[in-house]
Amino acid sequence: MHSERKKFFGSIRVRMVAIYLVVTLLALMSISFTVAILVESSLVNQRTKQQQEATTRLALELSQSFSSDADTLYSLALSRAQELGGRVLILDTDAVVQVDSASYQTGFRLPYREVRDVLIGGKESAFGFHRIARTKDKNTLKLMDDAVWAVYYTAPITQGGVYLGAVLFSAMLQDVEDSVTDMVASIAVAFVIVAAVMAALSFILSGFVTRPIVELTNAIRKMGRQGSGVRVKVRGRDEVAELGRAFNRMSEQIEAHDRVRDEFVSDASHELKTPLATMKLLSESILYEENPDPAEMREFFEDVNHEVDRMSNVITDLLRLVQFDEAEPTIHREPIKLNELVDRVAARLRPMAEAKGIALNCNGTDTIVLGEQTKLEQAVVNLIENAIKYTDAGKIEVFVKHTADEALVIVKDTGIGIPEDAIPHLFERFYRVDKARSRGTGGTGLGLAIVERIITLHGGFISVESEPNKGSVFTVHLPLPMGEE
Ligand code: ADP
Repeated sequence: MHSERKKFFGSIRVRMVAIYLVVTLLALMSISFTVAILVESSLVNQRTKQQQEATTRLALELSQSFSSDADTLYSLALSRAQELGGRVLILDTDAVVQVDSASYQTGFRLPYREVRDVLIGGKESAFGFHRIARTKDKNTLKLMDDAVWAVYYTAPITQGGVYLGAVLFSAMLQDVEDSVTDMVASIAVAFVIVAAVMAALSFILSGFVTRPIVELTNAIRKMGRQGSGVRVKVRGRDEVAELGRAFNRMSEQIEAHDRVRDEFVSDASHELKTPLATMKLLSESILYEENPDPAEMREFFEDVNHEVDRMSNVITDLLRLVQFDEAEPTIHREPIKLNELVDRVAARLRPMAEAKGIALNCNGTDTIVLGEQTKLEQAVVNLIENAIKYTDAGKIEVFVKHTADEALVIVKDTGIGIPEDAIPHLFERFYRVDKARSRGTGGTGLGLAIVERIITLHGGFISVESEPNKGSVFTVHLPLPMGEE
């Protein structure tokens, strides 16, 4: 349970959702913050402009009735205050309140900047923001904060260029603040909805990204259990799809490898069973004979001996091949005079050729390659032995030479040749063109496979040209050491 939970919260999917959420919220918050500030300043600008104009108009009106008695002025101030939704104060030129629509500041001297600006500073109008205590009779619903924003607008009252005093109109600004706050609140509600939708959407969408990963993980687990035959469905061409493709390729390679190995084991077993079966047959025929003739017995044992040699050959070759099947077979490279190596091998095999009445000639120019002596010898032995085995008359010529970029060993015979369709299979394990002939000469069908592995390990390759009943040419291509020629 606990680890399941840990897995869930550690999953890419959940992390993606979290990232989307954080990004969305950050974006929404910064947008709403900016919008709130812009809306608020535009609302405040609009409001102050309107009220400032109203105040200037009021000052004009007051300048005409300034000489009226106090009661008339008061009722005028009161009615305008109610119309404009604020409080109207009429000051004399010393900033002392003469009339107050709210009645309680009459006689006070008002020390505000905007009052000085119009009375002394010569300004046409002025206003200033003030934090004032909220009066209980107004906005009773919002008592939680006791100080609110208000704006004081002023305009001079003049008559023919003479200053009579000033008018101060005071209005609450809090409603603007409150409406912005309301707006932010409704934006916040919208955000919660957007964020929830975003989370749900990103959870669903991230499923498309993570599902192939989950599938791949399951496939790998399955592969671990059952070994092979596992494939994943690949859609699209993104990185994850590429991963799926790589997995499928790997799975195919493993299967191919398994197939080759199984075939090899079954071929090898078959190859070893044949001589065993022959030997069993031979020994039984002697075993059940009442009085075996010693001459006959000798012949049987010679046959058995021959089969044992064959088995021994197969096993030797198998061991040689298996040696190359390590993950990374290593060869010890040293400079080798290829022509001398070929001369030595030819000298060793010449008696075998001469026994069949075939000449074995060697022609070499000085050629040095980097490689492992015993392995290269083995390859040349197998090639020359084959030439002798599959040639009944004529001669065998071996050339060693080099071109600008490779060293060549050419083994040319005048033997039975190889059919064209057989050439691609020559280097397969246990492949023989003519099984009976190969067996008769002690062949295992592994010789060329060994040659190919050795030459590939040395960074080279083999090519074959052959014409049935004319002869064959096997050419070994090896890289020359760097810095030569
Ligand atoms: P084997 O032990 O049977 O000779 P190899 O792997 O050495 O096995 O060779 C595979 C087969 O290739 C042989 O069985 C033979 O049919 C054919 N082959 C190899 N070399 C020659 C050659 N020089 N001339 C004709 N056939 C050849």
